[in-house]
Parts: sequence; structure tokens; C-alpha cells
Amino acid sequence: MPDCILAMDQGTTSSRAIVFDLKGAIVAVSQQEFRQIYPADGWVEHDGNEIWETSLKTAQIAYSEAEAKGFRVAAIGITNQRETSLLWDRDTLAPIHNAIVWQDRRTAPVCRALKEDGMEGMVQDRTGLLLDPYFSATKLGWLLDNVEGARAAAREGKLAWGTIDSFLMAKLTGGKRHVTDATNASRSSLFNIRTQEWDPDLLGLFGVPENVLPDVLDSCAGFGETHPDLFGRAVPILGVAGDQQAASVGQCCFSEGAIKSTYGTGCFVLMNTGQKFVPSKNRLLTTVAYRIGGETTYALEGSIFIAGAAIQWLRDGIKIIESAPESQQLALQAAENSGVMMVPAFTGLGAPYWDPEVRASLLGMTRATGRAEIVRAALESVCYQTHDLFAAMAEDGIAPSVLRVDGGMVANDWLVGHLANLLDLTVDRPQVMETTALGAAYLAGLQAGLYASFDDLSSQWQCERRFEPAQEFTGRDAMITRWKKAVAATRAFV
Ligand code: ADP
Repeated sequence: MPDCILAMDQGTTSSRAIVFDLKGAIVAVSQQEFRQIYPADGWVEHDGNEIWETSLKTAQIAYSEAEAKGFRVAAIGITNQRETSLLWDRDTLAPIHNAIVWQDRRTAPVCRALKEDGMEGMVQDRTGLLLDPYFSATKLGWLLDNVEGARAAAREGKLAWGTIDSFLMAKLTGGKRHVTDATNASRSSLFNIRTQEWDPDLLGLFGVPENVLPDVLDSCAGFGETHPDLFGRAVPILGVAGDQQAASVGQCCFSEGAIKSTYGTGCFVLMNTGQKFVPSKNRLLTTVAYRIGGETTYALEGSIFIAGAAIQWLRDGIKIIESAPESQQLALQAAENSGVMMVPAFTGLGAPYWDPEVRASLLGMTRATGRAEIVRAALESVCYQTHDLFAAMAEDGIAPSVLRVDGGMVANDWLVGHLANLLDLTVDRPQVMETTALGAAYLAGLQAGLYASFDDLSSQWQCERRFEPAQEFTGRDAMITRWKKAVAATRAFV
């Protein structure tokens, strides 16, 4: 029976399982959405039990389908929405509260106070991150302080904390393992990415007891075996990475300077910086790209909270489109230079602004503005935000020659074409769009010895379509100036 790899991709809006053959072709897929819970303005939660149930169900379906097709699942790779924080009971594995999702802004006052105390420099120097509610530490602090009895239970060693990968592995191994990988740990604000250890000073700063934390392993490692009841036999879990790092592996960004941008709910640009911790002077993040064989490879990251989510809002919030793909047709119909600008700060702004308090705006409308212009403004806002990141990278001395894109949104040709124009950069869209799941599968495959090296993987990467900036595209500078004005006006409104 030919070997294959099961990737569990636990995302922000759905849990997905994809089985890949060793050439990276999809053998089986299963996907289930789960509830988004919004208890208050700026709060976003997920039910840990739903995350587990949808993850297990989709994995079982994909597993059975692959085996029915004559494949043997050799290993599992896991990738997950990052930073999202969950506390659970060590004995029963039951979450003691909903997970607090990466988008959640409830800890903005804590972050502001720490910033005012002058702590951001120390945090950035050790973790590569800034003080923002996005990262896990203040979410964990909130759970410990606000769930009745949590601090006492933590003191007695009864609670385990983790990001979603860690929780899934606890459940998959029947409670045998409490582990995570270095990429997920690097998003917590508790992990020193220079020494690759939980940092006692940071634990003190955020009020976190060390005994709730998981062991941090390489991204390719023996994370444990699944309980035999789940798949009929024990299957080893051999690869783990946070979703953006996994996408970067799936895009084969293995050499220094290789860069990818993923357009899903949010947008995340990651550039491989090799074995160098490159601190950003322009409010980008330094993070772990992957850790393999004990060697850490770093990345510079730009994180934008709202990309596809703006299109979701047009569809489900104000209901001016029926489906996400319809946005392409409307963008083509919209008046050129209508002047309408959307700043999609629905949950604040990420890099390079890091302004959790600002909220979204729609500016510059006239009586002639229709839904086509608004839809186009939403798509354009995704390109402008990416431009902001590339401008920050340029100031950090980085000038990539080609960008690899992926994520649900890049099915939109208009969007990718406009991106190439606005960035004035060649943009490549790969054949396999499921790069996040593919990256998790690649990590597990490396550890299983099914691939000998990165070169094996790189030779599998294929371009589906290359987008070159159009010669006739003019007015770039004026557009960017208008965008900057729109951002400034929106921030001034807070
Ligand atoms: P995630 O993994 O973050 O849940 P996906 O990578 O599955 O996200 O991408 C889904 C997002 O892409 C949704 O927010 C959706 O609105 C957007 N999207 C999907 N197809 C298109 C399209 N053709 N044009 C614009 N946006 C799209």
C-alpha cells in the first residue's frame, strides 16, 4: 500500500482534514465549520469541544476515505489557528472556558498598561512580538483571573494551557502528552525565541505559572501516538506548526529571503530570514519559521487581521453579495477611481499600526457609489494593507523579487492582479492552494523519513499562474497617499 500523510488543519472558521500522497496531491478531504461566539464588542470565542469534535470527525472521514482508496496513513501532521488560548482540566481534558480567539481584543487595557510601564522593548527583544491582545499571554492571564477557581486549580497543578495544536494532541493521545512546537510557542509572548525556552521574567510579567505550560518540541518530532480507539490503530503525530508557518513550509519558503502571503480570514506575510533573529524597526514581528533538528529558522512577519473577513462581512453582515467569488465580477464592474476607501479595522489594526482600539470605516462615498464600488474598496483594502507591510519590510532593508500567495481569497484573479500592480512585484500562485495543510504534511513526512530533505519538497512546488505588474498601471503613488489619509482619518476617529 502506498504511504500517505493526514494533515489536520484546525482553522479559525472550520476544521479541515486533508490526506496527501507523497507527491503532494490530495487523496481525501473533509471539512466542517463551527460556531463563532461573540460575547461582547471585540470579544471572539470558540467552544473547545466543537473544535475537538469537528477536528476528529473530519480526520476520521479523510482517514477512512484514503485507506478505502488503498493508501496507508503513515503519519499525522497538525496545523492550527495560532495564539488562540485554551485552559483545560488535566484529568478530564475538559476545557474550563471557551477558547479566546486570536482576534479577541478584550485584553487591550492590559497591553496598554504594560506599554505605559515601558515593557514593550523587553518583550520584543526576547519574543520578537509587540504588546497587543493578539498574542496568547494576556488571553491566558484573563482566563486565570476570570474563570472562578482557575488560579487555585492552576497552583495545584490541575490545569493545562495550550494553543489549539496542544489541545488536539492532548485529546488525540488520550491525555498522554502535553506538548506544542516551537512555532506555536513563539506566538505566546512567554517563550524566549533566542534561547528557545519559556522565559521566567515573561511568566512573571504576565502572571503565568510555569506548570500550566506544555513542553516545546521541534516542528518535526515525535509528538505522540493517537489513541487506538480513534482510527482503529495508533498513528504517530510527527509534524506540527502554526498555520502561517505551515503555509510557508507548504510554499517551500526554505531559503533566506523567500516570502509568502496567505489570504484567508486575515492576511499574513512571512519572510524566511535563515538562522538570524532579525529585529524589526518598523513594527513587524520576528518569529520562529520552523525548528528542525534543534536548529531554529526565523522569519519576519506582517500580520493583518482582516482580509477575507471583509468579504465575509459584505456577504453575511450587510448582505450586499451572495457569495465571496461574486466579489470579482463586481470589482470589474466598479467605476475606476471611484474614490471610495474601506479601512477594514473591524477588530483594530495589526501590523504596522498595532492599534487595537480603532474600528472600520468607509470613506469618500458619493450618490454614485453602489455596491460594486464598496466591494471593490474591500478588495483594494487587502492590497493596500499588504503594501503597508512591504513598505515596512523595505524600511527594514528587505526587497523581495517575487511573492508566493495562497489562501481562499487568491482564487480571485482580480485581487491577485491588483496586488501585483499595487506592490509593483511579480506574484506567483501555486498549483496546490492548500499550502497550510500541505506544510503540516511535509513536516510529518520529513520526520517519518518519507522525504530526505527540503530539496525533495521544493522540487514538487509548481506555479499555477504568474501575475506580473501591468505596464499601463498608473497612479500608484496617489492611491497610496489616499490610503494613508484614510487610515489616519480612521484612527483619529477613535
Ligand atoms: P481561513 O482558513 O482563514 O478560514 P480560507 O483560506 O479558507 O480562510 O479563505 C476563506 C476566506 O476567503 C473567506 O473570508 C472568504 O470571504 C474569502 N474568499 C473566498 N473566495 C473568495 C473570492 N473568490 N474572492 C474574495 N474572497 C474570497
